[in-house]
This record gives sequence, C-alpha cells and structure tokens, in this order.
Amino acid sequence: MLEVKNLSLAYGLHRALDGVALNVGRGEIVTILGANGAGKTSLLKAIAGVVRTLPGKQVRLGGRDISALAAHDIVESGLALVPEGRGIFGDLTVKENLLLGANPKRARDGEAARRERVLALFPRLRERAAQIARTMSGGEQQMLAIGRALMSNPDILLLDEPSLGLSPAMVQELFATLLRVREAGVGLLLVEQNAQESLRIADRGYVLENGAIVGHGTADHLKSDPAVQRAYLGGV
Ligand code: ATP
Repeated sequence: MLEVKNLSLAYGLHRALDGVALNVGRGEIVTILGANGAGKTSLLKAIAGVVRTLPGKQVRLGGRDISALAAHDIVESGLALVPEGRGIFGDLTVKENLLLGANPKRARDGEAARRERVLALFPRLRERAAQIARTMSGGEQQMLAIGRALMSNPDILLLDEPSLGLSPAMVQELFATLLRVREAGVGLLLVEQNAQESLRIADRGYVLENGAIVGHGTADHLKSDPAVQRAYLGGV
C-alpha cells in the first residue's frame, strides 16, 4: 500500500538517506532496524513530508503518487506520523488532543465512531479524558499520541520509537495494542531501538545503516541472521 523508492535526504553535506526503497502492505507491521544516527527518524520524517528531500523520490500510497504533496496533504491521503517524543499538546486535555487528531477532512465523517474505537483500543484514555496531557505518564502519553494519529483515519501509521522510556510492562501493553491496530487493516512502519521487541510483532523488517537499506526480510529471517543478532539483538 505504501511504496517508497529512491528516497534521499541531505543535511548540508551530510547524506542522511541514500536511495532508500521500501514498502508496507495493508495490515502489515514493518520494522526498521538501525543504530543511533542510521537515519531512522529522518526516514519517517521524509516519508511524512516534514523534511525536504533530494529530487527523484517516488512515494505512492494506495497507488496514488504522493511524492510532491505537502505534509498536511499527505495526512489527508491517509498517512500519519507519531513522532519521537510524541508531539502531543501538553496543555490540552486528552479529549481535546483526540479531537485535534480528527481535524483532517478525511477524518471528519464518522469522528464519533472512530473516537469510540480509539477509546476501546486505549481504555486508559477514556478514564483520563479530562486530564491535562502533560500530567500523564510517559506510557499514557505515548498511547495518546498513537490514539490521536489514529483519529486522522490513516491507512498507514509511522511510529518513531514508541517504546522509548517506557517500562517493560508498558512496552508489552503498547505492542499488544499495535497488533490490534494492524488487525483493523492499518499498515504500520515501526522504528525501534528495541529490535528484540519490534521483531516479535513485525511481519518484515529492513536494516538501515548510514542512510542506506543494507538488508531486509521476514522478521523470522532477520532474527536468525547472525549479523542482525550481533548488531541489534545483543548476540555474540
Ligand atoms: P537515533 O536512533 O539516534 O534517533 P536515527 O537513526 O533516528 O538516530 P536520524 O535522527 O535520522 O537518525 O539522523 C541521521 C543523521 O543525520 C545523524 O548523523 C544526525 O546527526 C543527522 N541529522 C539529523 N537531523 C539533522 C539536522 N536537522 N541537521 C543536521 N544533521 C541532522
């Protein structure tokens, strides 16, 4: 459903992404493995259209060419980014954050029903609808960020390090929820330092090194690859 080809990005003379190609199918979880500085955050931002890329990229969503669209039009076409650090509105309530997520035109019809589905997915957000977002725990804020992104009615959700800073129990809860998001037919592109956990829920993965894809395969294939084990799974 999401197809990316020839995606390159430079910060000044530093080439952060070099001809990246990847795809994510409907209801598929695809993970990006990469060390610090490999370009994972840049990759998600480039797909979401929030950073300027080098000419020549091709990004298609559901068969439609979205390469030249501005970030808000990319959201309208069905792609939502949950950025690292979550990007929620800390001074607003949980409910207000969710309502803002439904601002894209594609999300206005059926807003109430969608909000009900999001609250069913994250019961904690229902309990805390009136709470000021920044007073919630890190895990709760992460769930709010994902809930808000789902309110835009996306076909594809990009997630940048959602498990960062969460307790092991919260990581389990979050990843179980991502599996349920996938069941609803949403495709997930998941960037994670926690390769062990992300390969547990992913269908497939790509390995990003110095801005280039150097390997890809099914999650099972990657888990059993000695180079992946050494670099990302703490193997020897
Ligand atoms: P991490 O896991 O540490 O967050 P990452 O894989 O997400 O890393 P990016 O944040 O995409 O990596 O950064 C890729 C490279 O680009 C790094 O060398 C980083 O220092 C550089 N970089 C990122 N953003 C900028 C920027 N705005 N200006 C200059 N260089 C940048």
